[in-house]
Amino acid sequence: MTKQYLMTPGPTPIPEKIAEAMAKPIIHHRTPQYMEFTKAVNGNLKKIFKTANNVLTFTSSGTGAMEASVVNTLSKGDTAVVVIGGKFGERFAEICNAYGVNVVPIDVEWGAAPDPSRVEKALKENPDAKAVFTHLCETSTATVYDVKSIGNIVAKTDAILVVDAISGLGSDEFEMDKWNVDIAIGGSQKAFMIPPGLSFCAVSKKAWELVKKSTLPKYYFDFKKYDKLIEKSDNPWTPAITLVIGLEKALSIIMAEGVDNFIKRHMRDAEFVRQYLKELGLEIFPKSPSDAVTATKVPKEIDTSKLIKSLKAKGVIFAGGQGELKGKIFRIAHMGGINREDLERALGILKETLKEENIKV
Ligand SMILES: *Cc1c(COP(=O)(O)O)cnc(C)c1O
Repeated sequence: MTKQYLMTPGPTPIPEKIAEAMAKPIIHHRTPQYMEFTKAVNGNLKKIFKTANNVLTFTSSGTGAMEASVVNTLSKGDTAVVVIGGKFGERFAEICNAYGVNVVPIDVEWGAAPDPSRVEKALKENPDAKAVFTHLCETSTATVYDVKSIGNIVAKTDAILVVDAISGLGSDEFEMDKWNVDIAIGGSQKAFMIPPGLSFCAVSKKAWELVKKSTLPKYYFDFKKYDKLIEKSDNPWTPAITLVIGLEKALSIIMAEGVDNFIKRHMRDAEFVRQYLKELGLEIFPKSPSDAVTATKVPKEIDTSKLIKSLKAKGVIFAGGQGELKGKIFRIAHMGGINREDLERALGILKETLKEENIKV
């Protein structure tokens, strides 16, 4: 079988040691043995989020935690500012709409990062806004946002700042507490090197004040139910035991490397990928590229879906564009278990394929 180079922005490859940890016989969750895993995970997640707040873990893909951040903080008829510069910005707006929250959109050109002054202006014009929803990395455009500057602005108001850091966490620099982020969201299938199925919300004191007042319907994702048990390393429902055990292993691997070294490695790999693509004559799509995933413009002469298909036949799996970017870009992830050696191989195969198909870029 051809070796598979899975380079999509989630799921990402699972390193052997982590797969082995998850392959062991399952244990029961109301046992001291399992609670040790939970305790280690809670402690180490804080180091990745760079926060003193607890990090709540849910059994869902990332979107579950996005929805949780809305239903736990807001009430029907509340106003929220939502930065929309891609597919995932649209998703926050859709969740707000589904729950009867009024959305004040900040529409950003796809591939650009929002100018933080626009958040300031939106909050001035909408002083009743309870929350600002944005991203660390908008995965659909591979763009990193200036969360630090947005955090400075939101901190001066009564609104909370909710950041979907699902794809950026571990790859792009992120400091929940220093940057005044009130809810930071993560997901398992990106830099955490485990399969999809876990999502995370770290919640600040300021956000907890809103949680107390929120009246949107919630049950499974009710922050209060999780928070009550987290100090005892317990969980309100049956957790995704196997994934949590895999996460414990993944986090211990990250801690051994050091969180900052882990992030710096992503920076170097991202730079390597960008340079390689530029040398092939391709243009990087976003104006402020993320270190989690790279999006490349595709010249009009190239049939993107055909190129992606040819690469897939050789075991190299890149992601195409979503929404309005379909056919216009392709994306190469370099997060978590995607290592330099594999990136070099996959990019080499891209180079060969472009040559074989007589594509001059
Ligand atoms: C992957 C991702 C999600 C999560 O999507 P799911 O399919 O629900 O896991 C959310 N936001 C961003 C920015 C992502 O990259």
